[in-house]
Amino acid sequence: MRQLIAGNWKMNLLRAEALGLAAALRHGIADIAAEMLVCPPAITLAAVAQALEGTDIAVGGQDCHQEAKGAHTGDISAPMLRDAGAGWVILGHSERRQDHGETDEMVREKVLAAAIAGLTPIVCVGETEDQRRSGAETEAVGWQLSGSLPRGFGTEVPGVLAYEPLWAIGSGKTPTEAEIAAMHAFIREELLRQFPDAGAAVRILYGGSVKAANAAALLGVPEVGGALVGGASLVAEEFLAIARAGRGG
Ligand code: PEP
Repeated sequence: MRQLIAGNWKMNLLRAEALGLAAALRHGIADIAAEMLVCPPAITLAAVAQALEGTDIAVGGQDCHQEAKGAHTGDISAPMLRDAGAGWVILGHSERRQDHGETDEMVREKVLAAAIAGLTPIVCVGETEDQRRSGAETEAVGWQLSGSLPRGFGTEVPGVLAYEPLWAIGSGKTPTEAEIAAMHAFIREELLRQFPDAGAAVRILYGGSVKAANAAALLGVPEVGGALVGGASLVAEEFLAIARAGRGG
């Protein structure tokens, strides 16, 4: 399976900076076999999509509303993201779950809204530090998986999963390769249980403090179908080096 290297720019980069990063990525992708995606803030998404047009780097949003339109001040809908040039959207990121009270049910509705609009969602799951310390990490991720994924996930609703332990995000800490392998194996089992026809083909990304220095090791773990990268995706050479460590088809 071709690995997906996705950059989550979060709430970073003004327009000129975003365009500078897009231009640097555009010039650096010649030797990259993995699939690449960048997710800028909604306000710069259209400009970045235009700057990357004709390249193999796709563009995605970082969230969308579950409704297609309506009275939801400050929100962005999936059709709006599509219209701006997005092909993907990150959903259920832990920062959305924590900062905006997003529940599994809301994430599931957003996944459906994304699919209807023609976007491929990246659905994020992951345990807190306390949950891992107390040995409840698979239980926590299991609940998120059964609550956040709609019927038809992987078939009529194409999608990708991202395992992002909350304590590894932006912290410089990562689980051991054995811990990542165990969690990805668990997620694969759950996918196969919930979606017997499609569970085998859904890519499971790892996210949390991925950088150029650890990318090859993390991307080499069994069942890791790519990486969701935050901080390191803001530096062209770092992100390109991570992408170079990714496998082609
Ligand atoms: C993220 O928030 O999706 C993420 C993986 O962040 P970082 O790479 O900075 O840990």
